[in-house]
Amino acid sequence: MNEGRCIKCSSCMRACPVLNDPQGKTFPGPRTVGIDAPRFPEALSIGNDALMCTMCHACEWACPSSITITRSMSMLRERLADAVPSLPGHQRMRENVREYGRTVTSDFTDWKESGERTLYFPGCIGLGRLPELVRSASKLLSSMGIPHDISPQAKCCGSPLLKVGAKQEASSLQQNNLETFSAYDNIVTSCPGCTYQLREVYGIESKHLVELMPGKKYRSTVEGRWALQVPCHLKRGLDPWAAEYMAAVLVQAGVDLVRLPEEDLCCGGGGGLLSGFPDTSASLARSKVRTYREAGVRGVITACPFCALNLGREGLLVLDISQVLTVVD
Ligand code: SF4
Ligand code: SF4
Repeated sequence: MNEGRCIKCSSCMRACPVLNDPQGKTFPGPRTVGIDAPRFPEALSIGNDALMCTMCHACEWACPSSITITRSMSMLRERLADAVPSLPGHQRMRENVREYGRTVTSDFTDWKESGERTLYFPGCIGLGRLPELVRSASKLLSSMGIPHDISPQAKCCGSPLLKVGAKQEASSLQQNNLETFSAYDNIVTSCPGCTYQLREVYGIESKHLVELMPGKKYRSTVEGRWALQVPCHLKRGLDPWAAEYMAAVLVQAGVDLVRLPEEDLCCGGGGGLLSGFPDTSASLARSKVRTYREAGVRGVITACPFCALNLGREGLLVLDISQVLTVVD
């Protein structure tokens, strides 16, 4: 690890959306959790407040020493998982995975098992909470000329479990999924967190839908003025240019799009914050919704089920990019 390069500049602390939220004051912050605590034997006394992180990577982007702070925090989470009792929301999520193979239950039935070469992997939140997003992404993929299956055999990618330190459970999901994936040449997702997990942890070349969009022509299906909600894992995890792909595709399609400086601030939905600390998660979402309302937009366009769910809960109109475009022949 590279924590020794820390120059104590506090840029990571200033960049952290949780630490800067009124509901997040008990979070010790990225430098304490990722850099300082792991060096000392009493590190685990930091307790569950160390889990108040959305894994948004903003601290890493702000760090002048390029320290992999989130990786270090993940390692501490693994140690904490054996040392402190699970939060009720995290426990529920683990039980759901044990019982159903996914973090949330789902009554999705539109599976596609036609022996195509591409598997569309929607992720737990899409299947369980936003099935209309899964259907629209599948429809868009088909109209982009990408025939695909959606398999009930593909389970949770394991990312949420790693975020709560449950490495063994995440690893057994990975084994299951790799068996399912072996029948396919390509894996496409509509969740940046899943794509990141498949790419960085499984080591397979998966793509997020947004990464496949440039080069084709689209038409907008929405009226009015919209802003972007740029998912953390899409921009800071997968591709720093992802927001630009999204914007270019939307503007070319005729969407009246406004770019806000806050568009890539975390929605508060990731990293286990929503399940573990729902009040803090809601507070982060409210603050973003306030910004969008002040900008006078009709709603926001995103490419992440967590952003759609968490901002939508605060009353903002949030659509996935697949819900606002059709392919022009
Ligand atoms: S990943 Fe995001 S939420 Fe977590 S410590 Fe870093 S800036 Fe804060
Ligand atoms: S931004 Fe990087 S160098 Fe500065 S305090 Fe944080 S971890 Fe240390």
